[in-house]
Amino acid sequence: MGNGSKNTSSFGPSLRLGVLGGGQLGRMMIQSAIDFDARVEVMDPSADAPCSNFTHRFVKGDLNDANDVVAFGRDLDCITIEIEHVSVEGLRTLEQQGVRVIPKPDHLAIIQDKGLQKEFYTAHQIPTARYQLINDVSEVGAMGFPIVQKMRKGGYDGKGVVLLKDKAQIEKAFTVPSVLEAAVDIEKELSVIVARNSAGEMKCFPVVESVFDPVANLVDYLIAPAAITAEESAEAERLAKCVVEAMNFEGLLAVELFLDTEGRILVNEVAPRTHNSGHHTIEANVTSQFEQHIRTVLDLPLGCTAPVHAVGAMINIVGTAEAIGIPDYKGIDVALATEGVHPHLYGKSHVKPFRKMGHVTITGDSREEVLERMLRIREQLAVEGKQGPSA
Ligand code: ADP
Repeated sequence: MGNGSKNTSSFGPSLRLGVLGGGQLGRMMIQSAIDFDARVEVMDPSADAPCSNFTHRFVKGDLNDANDVVAFGRDLDCITIEIEHVSVEGLRTLEQQGVRVIPKPDHLAIIQDKGLQKEFYTAHQIPTARYQLINDVSEVGAMGFPIVQKMRKGGYDGKGVVLLKDKAQIEKAFTVPSVLEAAVDIEKELSVIVARNSAGEMKCFPVVESVFDPVANLVDYLIAPAAITAEESAEAERLAKCVVEAMNFEGLLAVELFLDTEGRILVNEVAPRTHNSGHHTIEANVTSQFEQHIRTVLDLPLGCTAPVHAVGAMINIVGTAEAIGIPDYKGIDVALATEGVHPHLYGKSHVKPFRKMGHVTITGDSREEVLERMLRIREQLAVEGKQGPSA
């Protein structure tokens, strides 16, 4: 029977923590959970998900099916997510049955819908790009151009986002309910990861700067601390904390922000979970984002987020443009031979073009020196596909 009313502050091997989603974020969460002696159980639609061999119980199930979510979670003490596209209805039922659910289903319902997210920011005077919600593609010109159109639901990693520079590009528009946003003149893309527990204790990781690769539409590299002024950094942290407090959020929230060319900081969107922009914290900070997330799920005191290295950078290891098949990693030896460099491979059984297969963290004393090592390693890193029995 569900025993979620059990006091999670007395934890031990009998404490059962469930995770919806079995990808790389779950896998790195499991690594941190080992130190808490927490029993982690995972559900994912794919039988060979990166977590499948590293969990006390792996269940193959549909994350968007309320019945699957309830069946998976009903005997757990607490349940969390590593992907936000999951059944809110299923999580609500589990919460009613006494399972501790972090993030809260109500918060997830807002965050899953980019339209509701934008309305939340305006209702709480949180600066965000000017926007309009539309239901039909005939309304795409309503705000003029250039605009960024975003599907309200289901997008991730830039899929579900399209830049429409002018009327001529209207044929690229999505035909589903979406958010139209004024295109921001972006100076830098920033992110702040904030944790908050039930006592209201709140801690931020230092501001991270993300540099995007427009071809793959994925983060090219990210680096912390961001090269911005102390005032800009304080404003980014203030806004991130504002979102968390306005929601009365509990858990780990990654807040993505834009610094525009006029020096304004706007909230772009949030993710209620561990985030690509926090991977470097495994090596670069006293507490990693994964450990911090678990602390919030188990409602424990938060860990220190101070950096242990002056600079931490991260590059994703992604499939090449032609990669299909069993992953064949190139350049890992070069990364391993370089001081202050730590590769993490996600254990995905197949590579596809631009699929995230791992990441490398680079730590050091100065931004120039870290970037120099990063660029050298990046030239060597690649994931190609090879054919094999299971390809
Ligand atoms: P996803 O949830 O798929 O990551 P985002 O909302 O983060 O989608 O958008 C993906 C990228 O598109 C952003 O990182 C940014 O580079 C660009 N983008 C998003 N919104 C805007 C905007 N209003 N103006 C300019 N660029 C934007």
